[in-house]
Amino acid sequence: MTENLKGISGSMFAGKTELLLKEISRTEMAGYKVHVFKPSIDTRWGLYEIHSHSGGSHAATPINHPYEIIEQLETDADLVAIDEIQFFEPEIIDVVRFLLDQDIRVIFAGLALDFRGESFGSMPDLLALCDEIERPSAICQYPIPEKKTGKCGAGATRTQRIVNGQPANYNDPIVLIGASQEYEARCPNHHEVPGKPKPKIK
Ligand SMILES: [Zn+2]
Repeated sequence: MTENLKGISGSMFAGKTELLLKEISRTEMAGYKVHVFKPSIDTRWGLYEIHSHSGGSHAATPINHPYEIIEQLETDADLVAIDEIQFFEPEIIDVVRFLLDQDIRVIFAGLALDFRGESFGSMPDLLALCDEIERPSAICQYPIPEKKTGKCGAGATRTQRIVNGQPANYNDPIVLIGASQEYEARCPNHHEVPGKPKPKIK
């Protein structure tokens, strides 16, 4: 564990938070102090903790703006862990650089791509700064009835957004009042984004 900045990048359901929790646990077992931050809009498992789909959890400080990491950081922290980092404002990049300058290691987990298959927030810049990157993949849930499992099962690097049972349109707003929506892991072949502009080649 000599790297200073480590990123965990993948789709939803890829086990990103589980990998983050594993690193936190290893660091704490080695006797170091870890301070965990998360965006306060992520309340799926309660406001004051991060949680993996397989049941692990750790206390976390919920924040709105990246500068709150510096304001609220415990003075003896050796490692700062940040979950769902793609939701933060671009100032997160300078906050991470500031922490590294103070010899505080940083590890983060985030979605590399949004439901449209386009880069999410500051993830491209953050990943470019990393000394090490882990890219876990999920399992594609696209239904294929002929298969024993009933689904594709290939490595999934994309997050499929489904609104009222149909693939979400490229232009659908992020917040849809009154619509039922869900997310599914998909491989690149089964990631559907109706209305997405084709690549422009001159
Ligand atoms: Zn697939």
